[in-house]
This record gives sequence, C-alpha cells and structure tokens, in this order.
Amino acid sequence: MSKKKFAQVAIDSPLRKLFDYRIPDGIDKVEVGSRVLVPFGRRKVVGIIVKLIEQSDIASNRIKNIHTLLDNSTIFNQETFTLIGWAARYYHYPLGAALFSALPPALRKSQDTATDTENVWQLTDTPADNSLKRAPKQAKILAWLEQQTTATTTTTLNAQFPNSQAAIRALETRGLIRKVATVISDRSEEQPLACEIKLTNEQRLASEHVIKSLNQFKVQLLEGVTGSGKTEVYFKVISHILTHNAQAQVLILVPEIGLTPQLQTRLTKRFGINIGLLHSNTTEKQRKQTWLKIAQGDIRIILGTRLAVFTPAPQLALIIVDEEHDASLKQQEGFLYHARDVAIYRAKQLNIPIILGSATPSFESLHNASTEKFAHLHLHNRALSNAMPSIQLADMRTEHASTILSAPLGQAMKNHLAAGQQIILFLNRRGYAPALLCHDCGWVAHCERCDANMTYHRKNNKLICHHCDSTRNKHAHCPQCHSSNLIMLGHGTQRIEEALLDEFENYSTVRLDRDITRRKGLLEKILLEIQQQKHQIIIGTQILSKGHDFPNVSLVGILDIDYGIHSTDFRALERSAQLLIQVAGRSGRRDIRGEVFIQTHTPDHPLLQTLIQQGYASFAERALAARSEWKLPPYTHHIAIRARSQNNHDVFVFLEKVKSLCTQLLPDNVIIQGPINAAMEKKAGQFRAFILLIIDQRGAFTQHIDYCLEHIETLKEARPVKWSVDVDPIDNFV
Ligand code: ADP
Ligand code: ZN
Ligand code: ZN
Repeated sequence: MSKKKFAQVAIDSPLRKLFDYRIPDGIDKVEVGSRVLVPFGRRKVVGIIVKLIEQSDIASNRIKNIHTLLDNSTIFNQETFTLIGWAARYYHYPLGAALFSALPPALRKSQDTATDTENVWQLTDTPADNSLKRAPKQAKILAWLEQQTTATTTTTLNAQFPNSQAAIRALETRGLIRKVATVISDRSEEQPLACEIKLTNEQRLASEHVIKSLNQFKVQLLEGVTGSGKTEVYFKVISHILTHNAQAQVLILVPEIGLTPQLQTRLTKRFGINIGLLHSNTTEKQRKQTWLKIAQGDIRIILGTRLAVFTPAPQLALIIVDEEHDASLKQQEGFLYHARDVAIYRAKQLNIPIILGSATPSFESLHNASTEKFAHLHLHNRALSNAMPSIQLADMRTEHASTILSAPLGQAMKNHLAAGQQIILFLNRRGYAPALLCHDCGWVAHCERCDANMTYHRKNNKLICHHCDSTRNKHAHCPQCHSSNLIMLGHGTQRIEEALLDEFENYSTVRLDRDITRRKGLLEKILLEIQQQKHQIIIGTQILSKGHDFPNVSLVGILDIDYGIHSTDFRALERSAQLLIQVAGRSGRRDIRGEVFIQTHTPDHPLLQTLIQQGYASFAERALAARSEWKLPPYTHHIAIRARSQNNHDVFVFLEKVKSLCTQLLPDNVIIQGPINAAMEKKAGQFRAFILLIIDQRGAFTQHIDYCLEHIETLKEARPVKWSVDVDPIDNFV
C-alpha cells in the first residue's frame, strides 16, 4: 500500500471541522488515532489523525506540514476511536473536542506515552529524637508512614493528613523522611483476601442470569433495594470473568468516586489486584499512567467516574454502571454525554454484557425494561436484615412554623439514641440559613450575579452564593434602610447542627455536606469516625444518598421534602423520590428494624403517598404513565439548544433565529418549543435560555440537526452568545 500524502487532523476546538496537513518525508508510520504536533495559526498544537487521504482540497502552496509525530501507533484503539466518533455524532459535539476530552489531561499536551516515575515518600535511616514530642502532627505522620507497606505518593499523604504540608516539610528538613523518584508498581502488595460471601438466593439467581449471558450484548437492569447486596452480585460476576479469562478486563462506572471510597476498598480486599482508578481527583501523572496501563491490558479492574467510559481497554468483557440513576453520570459542561448511555453503546459495539445497578432505577431504564430492551433482575430483600425500614410522614402543618424537628421525629430521636443507635438527619441545604432578610423593609440578600439568594455561613460570617460561589461579608445593617434588624430565614445544615446542641448535648454531632467534601481527605476521616460510632447524629445533604453503608444507623429523619415536590422541572419528582428512597435506605441495614420520618407540608400528595405506601416501583409506574400522557421523555426525546450571554436580548435574538432555522430545515414532526428561560434565568452574570426540540425517535434526525448546526455556526447572531447542544438533557436549570 502506498503511503498516503495527507492527513485530516482533529484539533481541540469548538470548530466542527477537520484540518488537512501534509505528511512530510521522514514521517513514515502514520496511523489513524496517532497524535501529532501541527502548526495552527501562530501556535503549534496537538492534533489527532482522523483520516489519511490521497488528495487535499487545500492548495498545495498553502497546506502545512505535520511538525512532529507524537505516537507511533494510535493512542486510542479502533474500538474507542469508533465509540468517541459515535458519541460526538450522537451528542452533536465537535469530534476534535470530543477526542481530546476523552484523553487524560497529560496526554492532551505533547507528553510521551512512556511509563513515568513518580515521587514517593520514604523514611530515612535517621532515628527520630525527642524533639518530635513537641510536634505531635509530625510524630503522627511519621508513625503512619512506618506502618505503610506500599509506596506513599504526595497525594496519598495529603489525603491522609489534610492541611499538613508544613509538618511534612518540617519532617523532610529534619532528615526523617525523603522524596524519591520511583516507578509506581502495578502489583499491590500481597494481602489476605476477603473470602467469598455465600450469596442469598436472589443474589445467586441474579448473578447466574448475568453469567449465562456472558460474551454477548445484553443490558441487565439490576434493581435491588438498598442493602440488598448488589455489590456482591457484581463481585460474583467479576470473579467468574477474571477466573475464566486470564486477560479479561472489567469497567465499573460510579457517579462520584470521592463519595464512595468504600467500593474501592471492598474491590481491593476481594480481588487483591491493582484497581485502576480513573477520576479527576488524582494527579495528572497518575491518571495518565493508569490510563496507559489499562490501554496495554495491564490493569484488569477499572473503577472510574463518567470519563472512564472512553478508556481503551483491549480485553473489556463486562461493564457495570453502579447507581445508574445518578445525575452525575451526565457531563454538565463541554461534551454533554451521559456515561450510562455511552456505556450501553460500548457494550453493544463490543458484544459484551452490561449491568445497570440501582435501588431506584431511572425512568429511562425502567421504560427500557418494560419494553424488554433490558433484562430486569430484582433483589427484593436486604442481605443482612429482615425488614425494610418503616416510613412515616410527619405533617408539618400541625407544627409551629419555625419548628425544625416535629414532635414524633424528636421523640424517635431520643428513643434511638437511648438505645445506642446512630441517627441521620437529611436536609438538602448546606450553610447556616438560606436567606438573610431585613425585618423592617423586606430587603433580601441577593446574589448580584444570579437569580438566587445568598446563603449565610456562620463559621466565617459570610454570605455565599451556592450557584456561583460569590462571597461577601455579612451586612451589619440593611443596605436599603440601615436597620440592624436583619433576620436569618430558614435552616441549613449548620443551623440544624447548632439547634441540636442544646437538646442533644450529650451526643456527638457531625455534618456531611459539600463544605466538608471540598477538603481533601476529610470525608474519608468522617466516614471512618461514623463507622467507629464516634458520632451519634449525622446531619447531611445528598452526599448521604450515595450508597454509603452505615451499619448502626437505625433512624433517618428527612427534614424537608417539599422543595422537590414543588419544582417546575418535570424530572424533579423522579429525583426527589430517588433521593428520598436512597437516604431512607441508610436506615436499619443490620439487625435493628429501621425507622424513617419524612417531614412535609403536603402529606396528601398522591405520588408521595404511592411512594411511601407501595414503594418506588409503583411510584415510577404511575409517574411514567403521566409522562406518557404528556409525551415527555422517555416517551419522546429532547434536544435542547442552549444559549447564554451577559445580555439577555442577544440570547433571545439568537434563539429566535435558531428557531426559525430549525422550523425551516427540520422535518414537520419535530416539535420546536421556546425560547424558554432557564429555570434559573441568570447565573454567574449570564442570562440563559434554550429552545427545545421534541422528537419521537432517538437519533432519527441526526443528519438534519447537523445540517441546522452548520447553519447556526455561521449566524452573526451567534457571535455575542455562547451556545451549546444538549441531547437528552437532564434538567432545565443549566
Ligand atoms: P447495596 O449495594 O445493594 O446497597 P451492599 O452490596 O453494599 O448493598 O450490601 C450491604 C451489606 O450487606 C454489605 O455490608 C455487604 O457486605 C452485606 N452483604 C451483601 N450480601 C451478603 C450476603 N450474601 N451475606 C452476607 N452479607 C452480605
Ligand atoms: Zn431594610
Ligand atoms: Zn451567584
């Protein structure tokens, strides 16, 4: 085969096109999928070869040469290259930008693909002297390092000891520890493996069902109540695959890894091999190295967040998507893919099975199960406890308006605490108070950049906007009437914590919310302390819904469910129900029967009643019937074209233009709605709106839409706005 003369190269840019370059003499081994360094404007940028061609439309005196070939062979394999190409088309995202977002950040630059060394901390031979007595922090770090049998990177050390950089440096200066460069070894140290658990009947049936269909494409929706042991079903299937095929790889996708450290620990204990961790909380170096090892087939269990779905894994035999209903599986910026849906396509392309696990499956998946596109497996019973918790509604209308804990919940707390149990109080609002109000004139502290109130945080006496992070000092006087009569309205997690101090002073209280998880390593520490029963009352936000196993929690109080019930988004009910069932599911996972109290002002809400009396499946069935009647997803498909700008007028002029283009160019059976304001019209100083395309058949109009987008791209009205296409959007806030 003669050598091709030109290459079409994808670049990390929002432009929906490829760029032609000449392959100069001296560069021989060009392959589709290889990275190259190419001149682009005045810069040199990294590009990826998408196609080799004989001739280019660019005049020969204008076409530029490829500057350097960075890889001798494709950086993705054929399979992932095709997968990303499909996803770029399906989500109408520029191929170049899609390919680059699928690469680990280190490989988006012109770094090579050699295995790196990394700095790890070691003890020196210098013995510690008495002076450490006065430096307890340093002594603690030293003692911990002495216990370690594996290499400790700076990241691990920082995670273990947050805010201890000074202490670490001091130890280094004292000559007690040092940094050495080493190649991080792939083999984790020998350790006793956890033995296989004897599965319950339901677990056995479910795993056998999956094992029977290995080596073929099949989507298995594993719907198992909280605590039913879904993870053990995954493990059984993984173990079968790993023992029957010495090379096979398994990909496990989870919504947010930082929030579920338990799964990683359980995997390591059970399989004793190195787990390839892929998420944005690792260093660039680590991520690149793990990615490359997976691509070489050297790592067999891959645990990652949504971006891991694009990782080349030559021997992939199974994909698992845990908590498949979770909204964090959908990317919300840039390349707006849904990792679950991409994973399903990938399994199909590879002809392998995929398990979607959840206690509260998404409506999409339930719909697919009811039309038999997916197999539907059930775990109705908990693995370790006989009963699901009892759920009761506490009617807040009969309480005083400022009441935090209703009488029945307060009494139940006393009972459970007296019995030595732990308690969860759930409230989806962090901070101290969600609003600051002037009692005299009615002024409310509003974010200047968003359509939102500022939340008061007592710890630093600041007002913070939870949508754009704007921060300012709390006012001493009303800026409108100078009154000092400012009152804090409503309750956030911090205020609940404070309110409990008096009544429950003999018990230790701990908070779990984003303010906590932002600090590296703190979540792990708190989760451990909860396991060790150092705290009796846990107050938290939706972090609590993320699959944690708290063995001694027997009571869950959901302080306020009304917010989700009254939202304007048609998906809000589904979300609230999932959240409610997930949080409730933290209760009574062992011997004691759990109790759940839900405080609400609308105890008669029919869907809430169905959810509580008949369970999630019946709730979903009813809610889905309503969706079908209103022709809402999953019975139709939505594509949103979103726009934002500092100038509201520009947004609407652009979207009106887009609408008329779409009306002209799209077939008649596509319904076009809008322009509609985003639910939060202004965010971080930008006005946001969208138009909605409603389509019967997923994917049927891809080409028409591409054609529309090509036109939209050239509109002069597009210049002052930022716009994007969102296929299968999951909310109307963004
Ligand atoms: P889920 O993910 O469905 O909420 P998990 O897999 O976390 O449930 O299981 C809940 C708890 O029950 C875990 O502590 C797990 O070790 C235990 N467990 C699961 N299956 C069994 C079993 N067959 N025998 C004993 N314990 C089990
Ligand atoms: Zn005032
Ligand atoms: Zn704001």
